[in-house]
Amino acid sequence: MAQVRTAEPVPEPEGQQAIDLCPACDSPKARLLFEGTDRLYHTTDKIFRVLECGTCGLIRLSPWPSPVELRQYYPSNYWYVPESDATSHLEEAYRRFVLRDHVRFVEQSLVGCGAQGPVLDVGCGGALLLRMLGERGWPGIGLDFSLAAAAAAWRQNNVPVICGSLAQAPLPAGSCAAVTMFHVLEHLFDPVSYLDAARELLHPDGRLVVQVPNAACWQFLLLGENWSGVDVPRHLLNFRLKDMEILLDRSGFEVLRVKHFSLRDNPAGLATSLAPGLDPMARRVRGLAETSRERLMKDLVYFALVVAATPFALLEAACRAGSTVMIEARKTA
Ligand SMILES: [Zn+2]
Repeated sequence: MAQVRTAEPVPEPEGQQAIDLCPACDSPKARLLFEGTDRLYHTTDKIFRVLECGTCGLIRLSPWPSPVELRQYYPSNYWYVPESDATSHLEEAYRRFVLRDHVRFVEQSLVGCGAQGPVLDVGCGGALLLRMLGERGWPGIGLDFSLAAAAAAWRQNNVPVICGSLAQAPLPAGSCAAVTMFHVLEHLFDPVSYLDAARELLHPDGRLVVQVPNAACWQFLLLGENWSGVDVPRHLLNFRLKDMEILLDRSGFEVLRVKHFSLRDNPAGLATSLAPGLDPMARRVRGLAETSRERLMKDLVYFALVVAATPFALLEAACRAGSTVMIEARKTA
C-alpha cells in the first residue's frame, strides 16, 4: 500500500502498555499503515493508529479502545431509522432497491441448503432486509444491541428482534436455517465468539452469510486512510478475503461462495471516501443544520457521486478486489 510506513515493532506512545498483540496470531510484530481519526461521524478528535500484523497481515486499530470508550464512538442515533413521512417513502424505495443483492444472496443460500427454520440477522438495525426476506417467504428474527433499532424493526417492519449479544440469544441450538451478519464482525472485540455462537444456532445444513469490507480492495490501495471501509475508530479489525477464509476455517466453516459486489455498499463506500461530508447517513446522524434545499442539493450531489463511482466499483469487483465481500459458508463436519 502506498501509504505504508515501515516500523517493526511499532513504537508505543509514552505511558502506554507495551502489550499489543495481533488478535489472530498473537504476533507482537506490526507495521504502521497510518494514523487517523473519526472522519465520518466526528465523535472524537483522538488520533488512532491502524496497524498491519507483521506475521499474518491482519489489519487492526491500535490500541483497541475499552468497551466503555468504544461506545462513545457510536453516535446515539447510529442505528438511524427514517420516520414515516413522504421523503422516507422515497428513501425506503431506494434502500429496497440497493438491498436486492443482499436479499438474493441470502435467498440463494436458503434454496441451496434446504434447511428449515428462521433466518437470524445479527446486527439487523431497522430490519428492512428481514422484512424483504419475509415478503419472499423466508421468515426471520433480528438481533441487535440497540433497543431503538429493535423497536423500529417491530413498529415499521413487523420483525421481532432480540436485543443483546448473540451468545445469549434465547434460541434453541440448531434451529436457524441461516445466520447472517452484514458489517458486524469488523466491529467486534471477539468475532470468533460470534462465529461459535452462529455455528451452535445453525441447523446442520444451515448457512452462514457474512459481509465485511474487504481491505484487499482497490479502493484501499488507492485511497489509503481515506477509504471509508476502515471507519476509524469503529472497525477494530479490517479483514481481507483471505483473513476471513482463515477465520471461518478455524471456526468450523467451509466457504461455498463469495461475492465481491454489493450495490448498496461498494459504490456508496467510494462516494463516502471521496466526500465524507456529503454522506447522507452521517449528515442525518450528526444532526447537521441544513435547510431542506441544502439537504436536497447535497443528497443529489452525493447520489451523482455514487452513480459515477459505480463503474469503478464494478470493475474492482470483477477483478476480485471489491470493497466488500459477501460470503456463504456451511458448517464443516
Ligand atoms: Zn497476526
